[in-house]
Amino acid sequence: MNQGTTNVKSSCFGAGACEGIGKGLDRFLVTTMELPWSKAKTRIGADPTHVLMVENMQLETLDRQNRAAPEVDTVLAIGGGQAVDLGKYIAWKRNLRLVTVPTVLSVDAFVTPAAGIRLGYRVEYVGQTSPDPLVIDYDLLRTAPPEMNIAGVGDLLSIHTACFDWELAQRAGKSEYPFQSDDVKAARELLSQVMDQASSIRACRDEGLRTIVEGYMQVNTLCLPAGHYRIEEGSEHYLFYELEERLKRPFIHGWIVGLGVHLLSRLQENQHERIVDFMQTVGLPCHPSVLNIRRDDLQASLAHLRSYVLQRKDLWHTIINEREITLEWIEDALRVLTF
Ligand SMILES: [Zn+2]
Repeated sequence: MNQGTTNVKSSCFGAGACEGIGKGLDRFLVTTMELPWSKAKTRIGADPTHVLMVENMQLETLDRQNRAAPEVDTVLAIGGGQAVDLGKYIAWKRNLRLVTVPTVLSVDAFVTPAAGIRLGYRVEYVGQTSPDPLVIDYDLLRTAPPEMNIAGVGDLLSIHTACFDWELAQRAGKSEYPFQSDDVKAARELLSQVMDQASSIRACRDEGLRTIVEGYMQVNTLCLPAGHYRIEEGSEHYLFYELEERLKRPFIHGWIVGLGVHLLSRLQENQHERIVDFMQTVGLPCHPSVLNIRRDDLQASLAHLRSYVLQRKDLWHTIINEREITLEWIEDALRVLTF
């Protein structure tokens, strides 16, 4: 596999890929959570020096945990996004080797260099890390609920709306970055490869899981040299940011991004039916009923979305700046969602 300029230094893919990996490590610190650790600890073949469970992702908590953890040579991050981010944070702070073993593909933390941490309700990205290696064990991944792995397509599907937004910004003379039509083309090709794998992703077969991971790596190959994630982050994520601040609770990232793609592709009039069909075929949960979002909250969020985006000076120019979200539009859009 050509890893290009992804941050992943080395990788190891296969059913059973994490078996015995602890044996090759000297003193190592595991960052994890109860459930993934219960599944992985018998597979890795050696006992860690210390196991650090995720408490929360607030900066002060991470610093306290880092100070209290013993001296080690390697950080072995096992789990979902938070376990991986805790591992990244400590590996970065201590300048240690990082080995990453995702146990679910619901977020792309395991292929991004920075650790997502929280300052209040806002996520900030800090540090710079590279897994060496990234271990993708399909069997271990399949111990997670299928819909959690399928959630992994959310941040690839977002290419659909994000590239549209970037083109829109470019046409309006408001692109924050030099527009790269080759990157947009490459991102769309990548998305179409993902869409071709709908049935293997739905069934969480090796090939489907690999498609998601490789998709993330390819996104990085495009985004890291560019220095931004414009091809995969746009208005669909902004709805999620508004909802997160409004409701003050976390969401399964790929699911809420799916809801964003559903609604914002409609606002964009951008192949809405096609993308909604794909989400259904692949089995990506994205309806408010599954996300526990009430109709009045989603209504209020959409009605407030433009002023939210304008008040956040760090957000890019998207369809939200260009097309007004009217109450009639909201009514129409919500009619096809389940609450
Ligand atoms: Zn995302």
